[in-house]
Amino acid sequence: MAVPKRRTSKTRKNKRRTHFKLAVPGMQECPNCGEYKLSHRVCPNCGTYKGEEVVSK
Ligand SMILES: [Zn+2]
Repeated sequence: MAVPKRRTSKTRKNKRRTHFKLAVPGMQECPNCGEYKLSHRVCPNCGTYKGEEVVSK
């Protein structure tokens, strides 16, 4: 079995991990209530889409 010859340094490890970060998926502020919502989705807080179109409550 292949075994790494050298231990990975802190610097190298950290450099590799610069690519892994938290990504918030397409969140935008609702124009009606200002809550964060997923884009192209009805706002779960106030039930509106594109400013007007009220969908249930
Ligand atoms: Zn809203």
